[in-house]
Amino acid sequence: MLLEVRDLHVEFRTREGIARAVNGVGYAVDAGETLAVLGESGSGKSVTAQAVMGILDTPPGRITGGRVLFQGRDLLTLKEEERRRIRGAGMAMIFQDALSALNPVLTVGDQLGEMFVVHRGMSKKDARARAIELMDRVRIPAARQRVRDYPHQFSGGMRQRIMIAMALALQPALIIADEPTTALDVTVQAQVMDLLAELRREYGMGLVLITHDLGVVADVADRIAVMYAGRIVESAPVHDIYKSPAHPYTRGLLDSIPRLDRKGRRLYAIEGLPPSLTHIPPGCPFHPRCPLARDVCRTDDPPLYEVDEQRESACHFWRECLHGRS
Ligand code: SF4
Ligand code: MG
Repeated sequence: MLLEVRDLHVEFRTREGIARAVNGVGYAVDAGETLAVLGESGSGKSVTAQAVMGILDTPPGRITGGRVLFQGRDLLTLKEEERRRIRGAGMAMIFQDALSALNPVLTVGDQLGEMFVVHRGMSKKDARARAIELMDRVRIPAARQRVRDYPHQFSGGMRQRIMIAMALALQPALIIADEPTTALDVTVQAQVMDLLAELRREYGMGLVLITHDLGVVADVADRIAVMYAGRIVESAPVHDIYKSPAHPYTRGLLDSIPRLDRKGRRLYAIEGLPPSLTHIPPGCPFHPRCPLARDVCRTDDPPLYEVDEQRESACHFWRECLHGRS
């Protein structure tokens, strides 16, 4: 297994008390596989990724338990220096906001080139040539000229391509992309997502794709892990999820995607808001919003039930959900 997150716990100290941002999250991604981590904002999907990458703001964020195995080694027990080496060459991250992730006072050529100078000991000239190659690779037109431009001189979609180029530079085994297309308009979103999927295939990398948008994952993901209130509530192969979700929250997310074949029908939206992470409800954390909730849901926290070999659901009534009786 390329990456395995086991029973991860992350807390934040806030004025309202301890926020339990990640509560026992586990997921795994193999080489050549795409895992989509899906959830509303505040579900813990980004915090989990930051903990994996070792870029959690500390303090106030604190990992209080769990393991993060990358190619079999637990990153949480490694020395910072070893960890930095893995972070440089083994795994890379793509952020939503390229403008703040890129250095505004360096040309994109210098930023891309720096990766090769620092990590590969290349000359500036060779590094520049590699930078141009990479820009070509992510289909930035006129790369040879544009290599001298600064991040703000590019459109949002082109900047996101530069971020992808930065992430690919050292040919990592794993890329974590946190809402990589959320800031872009819909057409550009699809182009950037297609590019990312294509490069993932070509390089044989593992990809963790973090998104709040179930609509963007259907064509690119192999598996989906759905997060709610800092935990995984359902995890399954993408086709199973689309065919029939085994958790009411996943069902709600699916029903709220606009679909051409359902034109005219009112779009369903899950009622209410996700819980505050300082005051997660007892029992099933989804119960205040769940159309299937019963008494037991208010008191008994559901474990992750094994639905079948490939699927898990944290719902006492996953059978009903799976068979559409909601
Ligand atoms: Fe809904 Fe109960 Fe299932 Fe939670 S355990 S998702 S409240 S039915
Ligand atoms: Mg986020």
